[in-house]
Amino acid sequence: MNCIDFVKQHSDEKSCIQHFRRIKEEKGIVCARCGHTSHYWNKAHKSHDCKKCGYRTTLRSGTVMESSKLPYQYWLYTIYLMSMTKKGISAAEVQRQLGHKRYEPIWTMMHKIRAIMGLRDDKYEMDGVVELDNAFFKTHNDESSDEPTKRGRGSQEQSSVLVMAKVDPKPGRPRKHKKPSAFRYVKMIVIPNSSSSTMNDTLSTYAKPEVVIKSDGWRGFNKIKKVSAKHIKKIVPPKEASKALPWVHTMISNAKRNLLGINHHTKDEYLQNYLNEFCYKTNRRYFGVNLFDRLLVAAVEDTWYGKLRYNYG
Ligand SMILES: [Zn+2]
Repeated sequence: MNCIDFVKQHSDEKSCIQHFRRIKEEKGIVCARCGHTSHYWNKAHKSHDCKKCGYRTTLRSGTVMESSKLPYQYWLYTIYLMSMTKKGISAAEVQRQLGHKRYEPIWTMMHKIRAIMGLRDDKYEMDGVVELDNAFFKTHNDESSDEPTKRGRGSQEQSSVLVMAKVDPKPGRPRKHKKPSAFRYVKMIVIPNSSSSTMNDTLSTYAKPEVVIKSDGWRGFNKIKKVSAKHIKKIVPPKEASKALPWVHTMISNAKRNLLGINHHTKDEYLQNYLNEFCYKTNRRYFGVNLFDRLLVAAVEDTWYGKLRYNYG
């Protein structure tokens, strides 16, 4: 869907409500009280009322919009803008385009959408051959913001991120100037520290035990064999690190560039959300215009409320 079609089809709040209603009905509504599956559409309350017991399921309940007061049109447009902009879009820009007075509700809405992206990607476990690296992202935190010695707001720090890039090795002899493998999926998980037990816990959460790990032999990965089928260490001088693990390095530099494009100061507690967005879009890079519909379905389908591990303010 291009932006002209999109605007045509979602020109007012009513058409946006219809769109969300259709997605919910396609998925099927189950009464939380009696388990019945047929419902009346209650126009006045924008809810599905159970035909058996009358229990009311609002359009927002169990979706990313639960407890939000923002119009449905805002949600639809923001999901559209976030899925259709390759490099991402800032909350200030979305706020400007929606013409909303306050920044915070828009910012919160976008972080909730990023959380949904993370939740979707969590459903896929890494397997096959995975290039593994520990990256550091520049972030800020608020804790030491009163310290006069630090410039600007908050102190600058490095957030540790475990990066996994699933690759398919190309058969035959490696060709000059070409990467020896094809890139498939990426996962980036913010971790509290760089100890080997954290590395192992994180990897075993997001990868299957039969995974084959390629790393640069860094000491934090010393025990990675315990949670994988095989650990291939490619020990090279730091200058050649990108040759040994080409895709994981490409992904790290792309993510850093992407983050800088959206906002200059990423707070440590929101870093995971931004990484979710980067990974979600990278993993669906061939979806094209379908990305919007897919994200919309995820936002309506995933009964995420209360079990989100991501921050959104
Ligand atoms: Zn019922």
